[in-house]
Amino acid sequence: MRDLFINASYLGASALFILGLRSMTRPEAARRGMQQAALGMLFAIVGTMVSAEIVDYRFAIGGMVLGTVIGYPLGMWVPMTAMPQRIAISLTFSALAATLVGIAEYYTDITDHGTLERFKMGAIGFEVLLGSITVGGTLVAAGKLQEWLPSKPLTYRGQNLFNALVAALTIGLFIYLVVNPANPAAFALMIAGAVVLGVMLVLPIGGADMPVVVALLNSYSGLAACATGFAIDNQILIISGALDGASGFILSMLMSKAMNRSFSNVLFGAFGSETKAVASKSSGETSVSPISLEDAAMQLGYAQLVIVIPGYGMAVAQAQHAVRELGEIIEKRGGEVKYAVHPVAGRMPGHMNVLLAEADVPYDKLYDMEEINSEFERADVALVIGANDVVNPAARSDKSSPIYGMPILDADKAKSVIVLKRGMAAGFAGIENALFYDKRCRMLFGDAKISLTGLIGEIKNV
Ligand code: NDP
Repeated sequence: MRDLFINASYLGASALFILGLRSMTRPEAARRGMQQAALGMLFAIVGTMVSAEIVDYRFAIGGMVLGTVIGYPLGMWVPMTAMPQRIAISLTFSALAATLVGIAEYYTDITDHGTLERFKMGAIGFEVLLGSITVGGTLVAAGKLQEWLPSKPLTYRGQNLFNALVAALTIGLFIYLVVNPANPAAFALMIAGAVVLGVMLVLPIGGADMPVVVALLNSYSGLAACATGFAIDNQILIISGALDGASGFILSMLMSKAMNRSFSNVLFGAFGSETKAVASKSSGETSVSPISLEDAAMQLGYAQLVIVIPGYGMAVAQAQHAVRELGEIIEKRGGEVKYAVHPVAGRMPGHMNVLLAEADVPYDKLYDMEEINSEFERADVALVIGANDVVNPAARSDKSSPIYGMPILDADKAKSVIVLKRGMAAGFAGIENALFYDKRCRMLFGDAKISLTGLIGEIKNV
């Protein structure tokens, strides 16, 4: 009866995880997807709590209380702009959990039986290896994203050779342990080597590339959880770990593709480094044309089609609510407003979708790049709000540009462009943007939220 209950809970949990992932593929269903996944997690916890293997409930309940005390503030109070580092820290915890389970399982078997079966040693070794790499890697990733560590790539002579030696030693110890499991010293050395490897692999990657790295480490921690499932014969860990591992891997591939970077380029290139050359403007223009609030309001007030392009600056300024309000005013005046969302706008996948959804911008007004690009030619105004790289025409034309080949939103094809940003600072890729120097482009300088609030006030007088 107990087993039946556990299996039913795990089945329910697996179904809910899959449904949750599916729902998260559409913005309008994403919130529901999170709720389905959270409910799935509850099923998994309930199923685990009735397991006969729990010998002392104080630890299980204490663990849940500790998890809630750490998890609730992380979920509720960390701002959206700090989400990538928050995710990195969450991954540290999940990888640490997998690693600790593996360590406990190893020492229990060694103490009780003096050895382990080879299959089990393989599963535990894999789990602890990937878990420890993820712990080391995610700590460095979070440190770089939060700027506790220098975010520029840390490189030194012989780095690749050193990393290759640590990797060879760690993998060598793993293979040795599968053949000779009863060697706790080798086991401890393998763990230490894997943590060092995780740290060393992430140190040379620029802070700006961290979200892709975090997605990849996410897949490692999923695989570690999956291996834990095999080691302790727990189906829900096998299923959820496999889902996590596969989705993290797919996400990192999609992000690399949207940034037009190969995986190896992300892992071994120094994109985002301060030493990168700044690409030159290709338009030949040398100065930008500022615009006043009154003139910008006038242009927007009489526009028939406005395409809003949000970017990282909108997230920094927390301007999403003001964006929605301005859009509504333009619509009330008879104009049409569409929101163009680039797949890598902001600093994490879905960043703009989440912010616009939070501000209650209707989902049917959000357009993916492929859907909206053909419409720019008939747009009266492309309103760029804190976006930079995702509208940089150098990606199309300048072969020497580090973003050459990255698909962009065709803002430069609109009849006019208004850009809201504070100054002429570069975006994530650290390069100039020829769009800002285009004859049809006007710059409304200032914090995006303050500028939008000003525009909302002015447009009412138009
Ligand atoms: P960018 O990083 O290219 O540009 C953001 C711009 O916002 C800056 O030029 C900055 O200029 C401006 N800005 C900053 N703060 C404010 C503010 N308070 N008010 C107004 N403007 C502000 O952003 P994009 O969204 O265009 O591009 C995202 C970049 O991040 C891409 O290169 C992408 O590859 C990369 N990336 C994205 C990931 C993702 O998953 N989404 C992951 C990793 C990298 P100024 O300081 O002058 O105001």
